[in-house]
Amino acid sequence: MSKKFSNHRKFSGTKLVIASHNQGKVREIGALLASFGVETVSASDLGLPEPIEDGLTFIANAEIKARAAATASNLITLADDSGIEIDALGGKPGIYSARYAGPSKDFNVAMQRVTDEVGDNPNKAAHFTCALSLAWPDGHVESFEGKVFGCITWPMRGDKGFGYDPIFIPKGHTITFAEMDPDHKHAISHRADAFKQLIVACFQQP
Ligand code: IMP
Repeated sequence: MSKKFSNHRKFSGTKLVIASHNQGKVREIGALLASFGVETVSASDLGLPEPIEDGLTFIANAEIKARAAATASNLITLADDSGIEIDALGGKPGIYSARYAGPSKDFNVAMQRVTDEVGDNPNKAAHFTCALSLAWPDGHVESFEGKVFGCITWPMRGDKGFGYDPIFIPKGHTITFAEMDPDHKHAISHRADAFKQLIVACFQQP
């Protein structure tokens, strides 16, 4: 059996910290884990400081956030880090996806910027990545990475999602994530892929 589905430490207990100050994300993760008897509490509810995310990969940044909150709260903690990687830009904006939106956090600015940078390059391939890290107060950490492949398109289409959704068409589809029913997006997204791995490895009993 591959290491991927064996030898993982299982979540034990009932309370899990979500190392995010984004209430929407905390609610979504809480709903996903409720059926495993897990009660979630956010890092902001506990008044935990946000660490500096200076890792060079999605997993490194998710681990920084998860470890910091697990140590500070003395509770098992889940953190995520995600973004879009565009082939024609050598993987940019990647871990800097949120920062491309500038101080106003305006994703119209971010989408215009990546489109300008791609220019007339015919290679429109792109993918989203989501890293999830589950950290224990003793320093142990389990990390998983999910992806969804597709291409970018311009002009932006749809108003349902967030971030870069209006310019991303997942492989095998003709509509953008922002035109898609949210339940459909949540079933095929990078986050769904990472969560499936996390649940099998750390939440489901063998
Ligand atoms: P974070 O995981 O909150 O740090 O998100 C990083 C950035 O990546 C977000 O601000 C979005 O711009 C982008 N991103 C991550 N996941 C998605 C997604 O599912 N759709 C669109 N944009 C996303």
